[in-house]
Amino acid sequence: MSSTTQTTPIPLSRKPVGRDSPETKTACIRTFGCQMNVHDSDRIRRMIQDAGYAEVQRYEDADLVILNTCYVRENAVDRVKGHLGELNRLRREGRVKRVALTGCIGAAEESATLQQTYDIDLILGTHNTYELAEFVGLPTMQETYTPELPGTEGGHNAFVTIMTGCNYQCSYCIVPTVRGRMICRPMESVLGEVESLVAGGTGYVTLLGQTVDAWRHEGKRFCDLLEAVSEKAPRVWFTTSHPSNMEDRTLRAIGERETIVKRLHLPVQSGSDRMLRVMHRGYKAERYRRKIEVFREAAPDGTLSTDIIVGHPGETEEDHEQTLRLVEDCAFDSAYIFKFSPRRGTEAATLPGTVPDAVVQRRFLEVLRQVEQNAFARNQRKVGGEEEIYIRHGSTEDGKAIGETWSGHAVHVATDLAPGNYVRARIESAGPHVLYAGEPSG
Ligand code: SAM
Ligand code: SF4
Repeated sequence: MSSTTQTTPIPLSRKPVGRDSPETKTACIRTFGCQMNVHDSDRIRRMIQDAGYAEVQRYEDADLVILNTCYVRENAVDRVKGHLGELNRLRREGRVKRVALTGCIGAAEESATLQQTYDIDLILGTHNTYELAEFVGLPTMQETYTPELPGTEGGHNAFVTIMTGCNYQCSYCIVPTVRGRMICRPMESVLGEVESLVAGGTGYVTLLGQTVDAWRHEGKRFCDLLEAVSEKAPRVWFTTSHPSNMEDRTLRAIGERETIVKRLHLPVQSGSDRMLRVMHRGYKAERYRRKIEVFREAAPDGTLSTDIIVGHPGETEEDHEQTLRLVEDCAFDSAYIFKFSPRRGTEAATLPGTVPDAVVQRRFLEVLRQVEQNAFARNQRKVGGEEEIYIRHGSTEDGKAIGETWSGHAVHVATDLAPGNYVRARIESAGPHVLYAGEPSG
């Protein structure tokens, strides 16, 4: 996981459906970015299905193409521009009829230029996605398609949004601009959705939000919600957390509660107090280290991942050294390492002290190497043990499915069982990113 791959388009789960007859309306949804966007795409999928569209996987089979986009880094925008160019060509050939762009790019100023350049039919931000309903021929029903309601993913594994937006103002981040301030969903509403998902067969619930641990509602805090969910769902995870909101009580609950996967994603961004201050992260490296100590004590076998930005304006060699030291001390099991990308409208885009590309590249590789060394060493400790493995993705042609242990490790295991099932198997070897299990024993 140690890479900048979060903006890779995430394939959606449905099987391809072709054009059954010339009358069948077809739509293709392409998702870019984080799990939040995947979840938004589920809601979009529900709309197009309600409007009578069949979902297809290829642009050339679609009457309507919906690009649900990410704006966090510049390369995400470049990638979307590539898709828009391709769609213009298909439109000229009369294959694609209409194009809609939704998500974080839709909420940014740049969307107006994109609309003109690429002749996009509809642009929507993250708050008014429900207006897509009207575009596809449904009444505009804000109450039916707002984030408080579930998408259609369901199945064995479901995301449940517990909060939207973000109240932080990190120097580099466009999220507060495009997603707005934090809105927390009431506890009863979350629990109601979890109950109905579990009753419908969902075995794994992931609580979602930009800063899930900042969730609070009517005197209840995130840990209260997590504990309540862990009593209703057979398997629970949450992402993403902010170190300033992470309570020791939550870290202990991860270790104590049987149904919570012992995996923590806690973005640190930098190991230098000076940079953390420039970034307005609101904590010091020492406080972060202490949180990690509590987590490691609560769940010694658990997995810890983080986000790190290299090359933020003003980052010196000394700052970078401190990040390397923190990476070594925390021994992350994986990390998303991002090269700083200036986003118009953020404070960091105007700061002096640009770090030269070659230096950013070297720092990126140094952090990556450090993360992988630690991850490899930690994964080796799992070899020889028997694990209960939850199947997340069914087997590919080589007969290997991708699963997850209760400690949150990704495992390749030979089974043709469908996603949502559990197997037991011995871990035979390990790389820096995954574990490899032998034949399942049950
Ligand atoms: N809310 C989460 C948090 O504060 O940890 C992160 C959400 S953001 C969508 C995911 C990650 O993208 C961040 O943790 C950060 O590392 C990275 N990121 C955000 N803006 C960036 C930028 N302008 N350049 C490089 N990386 C960025
Ligand atoms: Fe962006 Fe910071 Fe909010 Fe995370 S906490 S979404 S990095 S502003």
